[in-house]
Amino acid sequence: MRYFPLFADLHGQRVLLVGGGEVAERKARLLLEAGARVEIVSREILAHELASWITPTPPLPRNGGEGRGEGVTTGTVHWLAREFDESQLEGAALVVAATSDAGLNERVAAAARARHVLVNVVDDAARSSFIVPAIVDRSPLVIAISSGGVAPVLARHVRERLETLLDESLGRLAGLLERWRARIKDAFPDVGARRRFYETVVRGKVASNLRRRQPEQAERELERLLQDPAQGGGSVVLVGAGPGDPGLLTLNALRALQEADVILHDRLVSSEVLDLARRDATRIPVGKAARAHSVPQEQIHALMLEHAQAGRRVVRLKGGDPFVFGRGGEELEFLADHGIPFEVVPGITAALACGAYAGIPLTHRKHSQALRLVTAHCRDSLDTLDWASLARERQTLAFYMGVAALGDISHELLRHGREATTPVAIVEHGSRAGQRVTLATLAELDGIAGRGDIESPALLVVGEVAALAARLHWFGAPPRRHESLRRVA
Ligand code: SAH
Repeated sequence: MRYFPLFADLHGQRVLLVGGGEVAERKARLLLEAGARVEIVSREILAHELASWITPTPPLPRNGGEGRGEGVTTGTVHWLAREFDESQLEGAALVVAATSDAGLNERVAAAARARHVLVNVVDDAARSSFIVPAIVDRSPLVIAISSGGVAPVLARHVRERLETLLDESLGRLAGLLERWRARIKDAFPDVGARRRFYETVVRGKVASNLRRRQPEQAERELERLLQDPAQGGGSVVLVGAGPGDPGLLTLNALRALQEADVILHDRLVSSEVLDLARRDATRIPVGKAARAHSVPQEQIHALMLEHAQAGRRVVRLKGGDPFVFGRGGEELEFLADHGIPFEVVPGITAALACGAYAGIPLTHRKHSQALRLVTAHCRDSLDTLDWASLARERQTLAFYMGVAALGDISHELLRHGREATTPVAIVEHGSRAGQRVTLATLAELDGIAGRGDIESPALLVVGEVAALAARLHWFGAPPRRHESLRRVA
């Protein structure tokens, strides 16, 4: 390790900042937040905000030592409108050289090093005796990232990834724990028990309440946990994994996957999505293929209950959106009956994903005023559909689980008066590497069904908008036309 990482307490400490431009302003902002007494050495102040921070009163005596105040108070900025000279280094805890004059920066660095005062020359690791990391600020929790000055872009990239992963409630959680620290310590004199309690708080309902911006509920939950620690822990998050492309997960879904102890996932969930889960989470496939129910619903319920009651954080991960033909409703009813706390993270459902990735604007206003999500799972569900209303014009129909019923769907819609020439699109493996789009007319659907080469999962889109895929497709192979299929055969 080339550099030693540390967090410095600069509260009330004198920091010399040489330079009055925008770079100096950026450094001053952070130093102020850390409570430092910043002294700017510069003939002119060129940065607008920096000028507004300058305190008119003369600086306090220079030997520092005001001690650390309680809580966070911001620092002060004073302006020495002079050239830099070595005597200004007297009593400085740190020096930052932030001018555009390389020679001056060099002189500041040399003088500081000669006096053993830590110095940073902005963007010049070679002349610096300390470097400033990229940070993710969830104060009081702060994460510092450094590439040792070798690849600042990489450090920033890592920072951006952490920014998305760590939601802003983390700072509030750290603040809450600080306020309750003494009480928690009294309640759990044993270090191991105390650590387990903190784990429960950080991974359980206290944290999720803060995430939902309900601080009073979080405090109440913490109070309740202190009274009865055995209550803590287990919960289920019902998460929509989207159609397959991991980029279509929500940030909340990603966080839930990162915090999970156990993941119960459907067959539709792609391996790329599962790869984003916490490495040591237990993954249990409870896959359901169209007609092969590999794990009965009761067993899925029993698994959720067992793991949640053992205090684990369970993620029930479903393809698309958990409330769209996903039995998510039934699973929540079961959890509610058994008093298990739950949350729901919506996902991008197949109709929206297939529309977007196939270039089918589902409610293009020239052609359609409504979108209907329809299940064509089995003969029973087909028989109970209101075909007369489905056959009406100016609406887009998205049929889920309809691969086996393409012929029936076509017959019923034609019989109830929808035009034989109505465009249809079949989107297989929507948003995934193997996406394939087939365009045809309603009358031709039967023929496609007869060929038997449509793979699951596939979504059928019926309506004028389906034809737009010929022009608006952008992802994967261009759509194939049913006519050309016939020629090839
Ligand atoms: N909850 C899911 C739907 C579950 S039902 C959602 O909101 O998307 C399963 C059906 O969804 C499949 O039979 C298929 O019709 C459709 N489906 C799911 N993922 C798909 C994908 N990537 N491409 C095309 N259709 C998909």
